[in-house]
Amino acid sequence: MKGQEIHNQSLKVVPGGVHSPVRSFKGMNRPPIYFSSGNGAYLKDMAGKSYLDFCMSFGPLILGHKNSLVEKKLIHALGNGWSFGACEPYSLDLAKQVLGKIEFADQIRFVNSGTEAVMTALRLARGYKNRSKIIKFDGCYHGHVDSMLIKAGSGLAGTATSSSAGVSEAVASETLILPLGDLDLLRKCFIDHPGEIAGVIIEPLPANNGLLEQTDLFLKGLSTLCREFDALLIFDEVISGFRVGPSGMVGVTGITPDLAVYGKIIGGGLPVGAVAGPRKIMEFLAPLGPVYQAGTLSANPLAMIGGQATLELMSASAYLELEKNSQRISDLFNHWFSEYNSGQFSHYRLQRVGSLFWPVPTNKNIGKTSDIPSDLADQFLPLFSTLLEKGIYLSPNAFEVGFCSMAHDEEVAKDLEGRLWS
Ligand SMILES: *Cc1c(COP(=O)(O)O)cnc(C)c1O
Repeated sequence: MKGQEIHNQSLKVVPGGVHSPVRSFKGMNRPPIYFSSGNGAYLKDMAGKSYLDFCMSFGPLILGHKNSLVEKKLIHALGNGWSFGACEPYSLDLAKQVLGKIEFADQIRFVNSGTEAVMTALRLARGYKNRSKIIKFDGCYHGHVDSMLIKAGSGLAGTATSSSAGVSEAVASETLILPLGDLDLLRKCFIDHPGEIAGVIIEPLPANNGLLEQTDLFLKGLSTLCREFDALLIFDEVISGFRVGPSGMVGVTGITPDLAVYGKIIGGGLPVGAVAGPRKIMEFLAPLGPVYQAGTLSANPLAMIGGQATLELMSASAYLELEKNSQRISDLFNHWFSEYNSGQFSHYRLQRVGSLFWPVPTNKNIGKTSDIPSDLADQFLPLFSTLLEKGIYLSPNAFEVGFCSMAHDEEVAKDLEGRLWS
């Protein structure tokens, strides 16, 4: 079957034909591409056309597609069966490996997705503090947890309304929403809600609504305010964890959160999520503590081994190589932006942090949602289409970031250059 035919049949049996909305290519003026295989930095569609992939499954594939060590370990693991619903030896290896990289945490609980990890961390924060409210920042994504599907309300600073149908007002009212980068508003919000705020959740490197790098000053100030008002600081490192460096943003910033949430890379492309923190908080989780949490497929052996093999290859020197790869790729894009087709994209540049990048049609640094050009999506469409035509695949949405991987090496950069100028 051709991709188009699969899509037509999927539209009948699946809402919008997709199992996650960005995959629908909404606003991209064409039906989604159906990819049948991935290898290294490349994806192949059903017609056999090759694409240089900068979506990389939205982040988990830091080694590239189908890394041979991960593949070997997964195949070996398959031979032992793939789900026991009972204790197994594999999750301890990954637990030790992750905890060995993040000193602040003594314990970790594995779940099946980033969303599930956030949901668990929020419940744990509320249970531990015996308070109900959580502060989140506009421009940060924390999965599709009900209480995180909110947008700023029109009333007082912090008020929120749901951003999705089906989220009740009662649930939305338990989340307070603030702009990134504003410590005065954060302090005011704490003062306005004395003894009510269980925790503050943030992507320390917001990378789901563009790439909104925060200043050290803001992140340190946030940490100080959480201490002052006795609220838990929750780092959502589902994207940034083990991507921006061997200890994620915890390592980059030197800030100690109370809880951190992981996903994506720690499963190496298999479904996984995790919550990590100090023993005194983590032991509030069942079976020791009063905060319930469970999962039929939690710590699934394949996911554990996929993550373990991935992290094993991400040595300190691997991060240096990843940075080199990313710099090379970024230089090529920026050069192409400035010169291609008499300057058709000369207003574009890549806003980049390590192996994460975001094509933006402005020279200004963007650090919060109100800085984002309002016509971002309109401007993105011709860029996306032109690159796609050349066999270069960006995520099909202007607000998604791009990813480089260990597989985006010098040879791939040469190929990118050839494709860009073809
Ligand atoms: C991807 C992501 C999530 C959600 O993870 P899923 O595995 O898609 O549920 C949550 N938070 C952040 C920061 C993410 O990047």
